[in-house]
Amino acid sequence: MAGPPPPHPPHAGGGTREEAGPVAVAGRLAADLLAPAAAGVDAGGVLPRGHLDALADAGLYGLTGPRSAGGLAADVATVAAVVEELAAGDLATTFVWLQHLGVVSRLAAHRPPALSDRLPDLCAGRLRAGIALLAAVRPGPPAITVRADAGDLVLDGAVPWVTGWGAVDVVLVAARDGEDVLFVLVDAVAGPTLGVARQQLVAVQASATVELRLAGHRVPAARLVHRALLAELLAGDAATLRVNGSLALGLVRRCTRLVGPSPLDEDLAAVRARLDAAGPADLPDARAQAAALAHRAAGALVVATGSRSVRAGSDAERTAREALFLLVFGSRPAIRASLLGRLGGTR
Ligand SMILES: Cc1cc2nc3c(=O)[nH]c(=O)nc-3n(C[C@H](O)[C@H](O)[C@H](O)COP(=O)(O)OP(=O)(O)OC[C@H]3O[C@@H](n4cnc5c(N)ncnc54)[C@H](O)[C@@H]3O)c2cc1C
Repeated sequence: MAGPPPPHPPHAGGGTREEAGPVAVAGRLAADLLAPAAAGVDAGGVLPRGHLDALADAGLYGLTGPRSAGGLAADVATVAAVVEELAAGDLATTFVWLQHLGVVSRLAAHRPPALSDRLPDLCAGRLRAGIALLAAVRPGPPAITVRADAGDLVLDGAVPWVTGWGAVDVVLVAARDGEDVLFVLVDAVAGPTLGVARQQLVAVQASATVELRLAGHRVPAARLVHRALLAELLAGDAATLRVNGSLALGLVRRCTRLVGPSPLDEDLAAVRARLDAAGPADLPDARAQAAALAHRAAGALVVATGSRSVRAGSDAERTAREALFLLVFGSRPAIRASLLGRLGGTR
């Protein structure tokens, strides 16, 4: 392994991927803008606003949005391929941008009348969004509660992980009202009833991930995007797990480029194909396989790089820290159990 990485080769196989404009655009952005800056972004812990502006200019903030609102209406395969391309370039940028897509999708699916004017702005990236969805995926005591009062929704509670603070204008907060989960669009502005504390991370520090605390925080009732039963959300959760798997694929892709031709190329193609084919029952294990592969590929990159890889600032050490992060990010009990088994942490 020597010299700078070559430009991203096209994905192997999959006609949809090859034809999709956004995938090629993402590959170019990753190679020309994100990858060359990734070590500096990691060392500085700050995401350049220009990175996100470039994704917005390329239309990628509207990747999952409807064409009627200026979006690209991409299918899941295309979204996954774009995520993989971008994550190969720079995980922190990709991670911040990726949160936004879920908000576009939810607004497009539920079309709350009072928020309809937000969709074109979200698709154009003029309005940028993060998410705080712990209360929607975790059973047990609610992390955030909501109650109606005098035309407002009043939010109380805290979640440890909200990514992109300072780079987002609004946060879609999931909050519990008994057995219901309400998805509420909250302005990302700190104040007496909305506090944030920056998390100090060993990877993707530039993602500006914060703990969010809400204490009697009021938002107009018209900020409600939609309401669902927690049981229904949990029952449908596994089906939503595909796209985050492409963060891990992106890391593997980076490793394959830096290591050069190796069996990791076939491993990447096989794990991608499994993720693409997986239904809800198989997705947690496929996700675990992708995270484990990223972990192994990062190890291979470290070894192939040699002792230089433990010097701060190398591609190898950054990638290894990012692989650690992807062992836990976006996890679920079934992913965790499968990963522990794969890594030898359980009998
Ligand atoms: C750096 C970083 C940034 C993040 N950014 C964001 C963000 O911007 N927005 C956001 O919403 N989240 C964000 N997350 C949260 C991330 O998605 C969670 O880490 C992930 O869901 C796994 O949570 P956990 O392992 O911390 O388990 P916890 O959420 O702490 O769960 C505790 C326990 O609850 C149970 N549990 C959790 N989920 C389920 C489920 N679906 N079904 C059944 N049981 C369950 C399990 O027993 C689990 O061990 C971020 C995480 C990290 C590390």
